Amino acid sequence: MVREVLKVLIVDDEAGIREGIKRTLTEYTVFVPDTDTEVRFSLECAENGADAICKIESFSPDILLLDYKLPDISGLELLDKIDIKGRQIVVIMITAYASLETAVLAIKKGAEDFLAKPFTPQEIKDLVNKYTCQIIAQRQARKLAEERREVRFQFISVLAHELKAPLGAVEGYLRIMKDKTLGNRIDSYANAIDRSLIRIEQMRKLIADLLDLTKIESGKRDRLIEEVDVCEVAKGSIEMVSHQAAQKGISVELVGEGDTVMEADKSELSMILNNLITNAIKYNKEAGSVRVRIRGDSEFVLISVEDTGIGIREDMIERIFEDFVRVKSRETADITGSGLGLSIVRRLVRLYDGRIEVKSKEGQGSTFTVWLRRHLEGLDRLEAK
Ligand code: ADP
Repeated sequence: MVREVLKVLIVDDEAGIREGIKRTLTEYTVFVPDTDTEVRFSLECAENGADAICKIESFSPDILLLDYKLPDISGLELLDKIDIKGRQIVVIMITAYASLETAVLAIKKGAEDFLAKPFTPQEIKDLVNKYTCQIIAQRQARKLAEERREVRFQFISVLAHELKAPLGAVEGYLRIMKDKTLGNRIDSYANAIDRSLIRIEQMRKLIADLLDLTKIESGKRDRLIEEVDVCEVAKGSIEMVSHQAAQKGISVELVGEGDTVMEADKSELSMILNNLITNAIKYNKEAGSVRVRIRGDSEFVLISVEDTGIGIREDMIERIFEDFVRVKSRETADITGSGLGLSIVRRLVRLYDGRIEVKSKEGQGSTFTVWLRRHLEGLDRLEAK
């Protein structure tokens, strides 16, 4: 439970009203259910316009209970003098004669609501309750928007950095060629050309992963949910990497157990399998092996991808699912990647109310296991986070 305190300024020239409201709200608490917040009130009073203006400055109220008729200036004039919107103050006008005309005028000047004298303690509580819920909901929405902005900003900063490095490298190699640093023979530049192509491939992969990620994040991708045999999708993914596996002499085996058909979007399953199987080959040793197991039980379909590769350092096991995180070591120095593949898998797995686990031993290999819920009732509305 979150506890908050809202500040209420009571402006009225009648001492009885000021004291009455103060008494009503002193012990009053509002519970805002959706946000699990309990709100209490800190109270201040002012008996005229000049005093009110001073207290608005010094006390910065969240709610202003403002008498329409004050001895020095009217409540409406006071609204003119303070910047209610900029200060985000909720103003509730207290008035003895609530004519429609004054109501319209006050609302035009930024007041939210009215309370006609005489009023009961319950009426004041109801109004304060209503606007407290509104204020807390707005605060939460603002906080969420700020957090999202911050996450987006960090993502873009890292992305810019990730693109800058390969771009800089390619630029460097091109300059070597332009200045003919290694002479006139094109063969002398073979290494520079190869290194440039690797860097370009790295950027291409990064952009492709980014596109996948944005599609999942935006929720705008049309999902085609149908009965899919995960084994069939795995066969396609293995086929796709067969050349890469053959080059390293890696054998890839597929084992299916039980009922491996589930409700899913085929392209999402492909993304999960492609990423896991590609990693199992990329981070494997020469002549190593990869075993892809698909197993169905009553609730879930399990995909496990086991390799005999370099393994993952214990301190990195949790971190590899974060955006752009890659393990830096001698073994991974020449392996290109964006560091986004497992973030994509993690987001996709959530769409299936599933989870992902990894077991790994450095130098011996890793096993990634994914659980996907077989039936998607209502899950197409889940957001990937
Ligand atoms: P990348 O594009 O770098 O492969 P991923 O998000 O797919 O990005 O993986 C993040 C990091 O996790 C990789 O850079 C690598 O260090 C590590 N990793 C992933 N899969 C494996 C694996 N099967 N074996 C060893 N390390 C792995």
